[in-house]
Amino acid sequence: MRAVYYHGSKTLVAGEAASVPPGPGEVRIRVAYAGICGTDLHIYHGHMDARVTTPHIMGHEMSGVIEDVGAEVNGLQPGDRVTVMPLHPCGDCPACRAGYGHICHRLKFLGIETPGAYQTLWTVPAFAVLPIPESLSLELAALLEPLAVACHDVRIGAVQKGELAVVIGGGPIGALIAFAARENGARVLVSEINPYRLALLGRLGFETVDPSREDVAARVNALTGGAGADVVFEVTSSAAGAELMTKLPRTRGRIVVVGIFSKPPAVDLHRFFFRELQLFGARVYEREDFVRAIGLATSGRLPLASLITDILPLERLADGFKKMESGGDAMKILLRCAE
Ligand SMILES: [Zn+2]
Ligand SMILES: [Zn+2]
Repeated sequence: MRAVYYHGSKTLVAGEAASVPPGPGEVRIRVAYAGICGTDLHIYHGHMDARVTTPHIMGHEMSGVIEDVGAEVNGLQPGDRVTVMPLHPCGDCPACRAGYGHICHRLKFLGIETPGAYQTLWTVPAFAVLPIPESLSLELAALLEPLAVACHDVRIGAVQKGELAVVIGGGPIGALIAFAARENGARVLVSEINPYRLALLGRLGFETVDPSREDVAARVNALTGGAGADVVFEVTSSAAGAELMTKLPRTRGRIVVVGIFSKPPAVDLHRFFFRELQLFGARVYEREDFVRAIGLATSGRLPLASLITDILPLERLADGFKKMESGGDAMKILLRCAE
């Protein structure tokens, strides 16, 4: 089988690799497609070297078909079409005991702390494996992990029918949040500066605003008679996004922080006081979000295929990273992993 290894500081080596036979409670999956995520780009740049052991196989967004199962695995068998919820909670920390294993204090993320999906055959714990319906293509199924992120964000944001949701950042996650919020019946405005992404989201029927050309708060006020947005999703993890997010919500409006801020940004706490705003963090997903994502993707109601801009052979991971960094016309890039 083949794999792509990260050796540190932007070095990737593709080649033959030994497959790991599934042990008790494990499943080996023939990976069909694996998505490239911003997190993988961070690993590639060396920003996460404290969490990965080199040589490391990245990748946590995927679809595939079960090749074989280890002992003590029930309900899964060879030939099953599946995706993976790449979380391995400890089961014994305060977060796990409180029922929040998805944000376990000692969480292992498959593809970061353990080998990931950028290989032909991926061996994972059976509890992380979710079957997908026959009618869902393996290409679209590779988007289930980021779609589950979006479902979690929209659930934490409690988006209701008729509300105005503003998404700051129109990359893959922002677009998927827009899809999921619209499914809940919200009107969605996406703030984004990349012209390709603005045009794509516009074609998909979303209202868009370019904050480099237009005052986003003025637009939101115009849309709401001066009231403000019901819910705002910050997906850019930028200082500008953190500054903008407090300007948009209505009285007692909600802000959901989705972006991963590596440094604490400046935030206008006076605005929280003045409008009695509510702030929510939303990290990864829980099982019900994955179940919701599978249901939505299978329904065919979401324009998921329009987000896949490139499908590259596994060996061309470096080209995928280059395209993402170019900031041009990339949205979601998939790797074809099966031999
Ligand atoms: Zn990801
Ligand atoms: Zn735990």
